[in-house]
Amino acid sequence: MSRYRNIKVKTPLVEMDGDEMTRVMWAMIKEKLIIPHLDIDLRYYDLHVANRDATDDRVTEEAARAIMRFGVGVKCATITANAERVKEYDLKGMLKSPNATIRAMLDGTVFRKPILVQNIQPFIRSWKKPIIIGRHAYGDVYSGVEAAIPGPGRVELVYTPDAAGDIRREVIHDFEGPGIVQGIHNTDESIRSFAAACFSYAWEEKIDLWFSTKDTISKTYDARFRDVFETEYRQNWVERYREAGIEYFFTLIDDAVARVVRSGGGFLWALKNYDGDVMSDMIAAACGSLAMMTSVLVSPRGWYEYEAAHGTVRKHYYRHLGGEETSTNSMALIFAWSGALRKRGELDDTPDVVDFAKDLEQASLDTIESGIMTGDLVTVADHHPEARKVTTEGFIDAIVRRLRARRS
Ligand code: NAP
Ligand code: MG
Repeated sequence: MSRYRNIKVKTPLVEMDGDEMTRVMWAMIKEKLIIPHLDIDLRYYDLHVANRDATDDRVTEEAARAIMRFGVGVKCATITANAERVKEYDLKGMLKSPNATIRAMLDGTVFRKPILVQNIQPFIRSWKKPIIIGRHAYGDVYSGVEAAIPGPGRVELVYTPDAAGDIRREVIHDFEGPGIVQGIHNTDESIRSFAAACFSYAWEEKIDLWFSTKDTISKTYDARFRDVFETEYRQNWVERYREAGIEYFFTLIDDAVARVVRSGGGFLWALKNYDGDVMSDMIAAACGSLAMMTSVLVSPRGWYEYEAAHGTVRKHYYRHLGGEETSTNSMALIFAWSGALRKRGELDDTPDVVDFAKDLEQASLDTIESGIMTGDLVTVADHHPEARKVTTEGFIDAIVRRLRARRS
């Protein structure tokens, strides 16, 4: 009988199940790594695409409300329905992206952090500590308006105030032939909450915060982001950052990219929506695999949602359905669970829950470092005399053994 069977998680944890290969791994993780070790009240929401469809997506909203009530949630990857998926699952319609729904309700910033192991060197050798990306998850091109211009004519920006006042116009371009235009926006409120989330995350982790935009070219739009960050820093963080021995550093994005490549890592890099989208994939790839990237949505209201950065790994799922053995990496999903449990333990002030989360992570890291890994990692890992590729379940079982050994 293991002593940790008695570890009580004080507050319920919100659990959101998902789709395809990640759903298969989710069930294994829960059954083999979580349930046997914890006395935990899991509030289960099934975000399987068919259930979201059957409930007209109410289940997603209920899950988000449960996170607002209990504070911490852990989410499996989910299908974002498109026309093809509507056919595949015989859905009533095109559901909204669950992540977008949850993000809109919790109003957060997404932080992505690579999982580093000793036998997988980042392609950039100087990166010794993780580079965490803080991506603004509102506005810019993601809610942009675009138009194709068929021929000669003038395109303008027009602002019509709700209150009394003059209409303002800016000429974008006098077209002499066909072309394209794009209109994007952001709000001071959203930028402020993004800045607050980044300052707070870096302070909690005791790491420096870097922020970069193209403010030399975009003198109003990007400059507003820079100014909002500067104001947030001066009003709320200067003293706390000094005490913690950490720094806030703003630089032009070109300069930041060059510095990141030459850095040793170990800081939070805050980026606008598009920059964060692109740079987080670059960092994940440079660290070895998409399956080694964790993701957490931090709300300025103190709510947390943990998940893997990757999707439902559709190709592997079809192989699994076809009866083939798969070798899919569950690291990011396991770290979503450990991240949520660690945060739960911190908020509840229950150090034994935090210790369990740390042991779960260490057992997972030890497994890879001992040479046992899934297909995505064998090709990028350093040579190990006993290295071997294992199945999806074989990998989780290897972690089970190491976790048991650590806790007994
Ligand atoms: P994906 O799940 O991110 O996988 C893309 C490819 O990356 C896989 O085919 C695989 O490459 C590799 N990969 C990703 N995760 C892996 C893992 N854990 N272990 C091993 N290899 C891994 O993207 P997708 O399959 O194109 O998308 C499937 C669905 O996911 C889509 O419906 C999309 O809407 C959804 N999605 C959801 C989220 C989310 O819920 N957060 C995020 C992104 C996408 P190989 O095939 O080369 O082995
Ligand atoms: Mg991307």
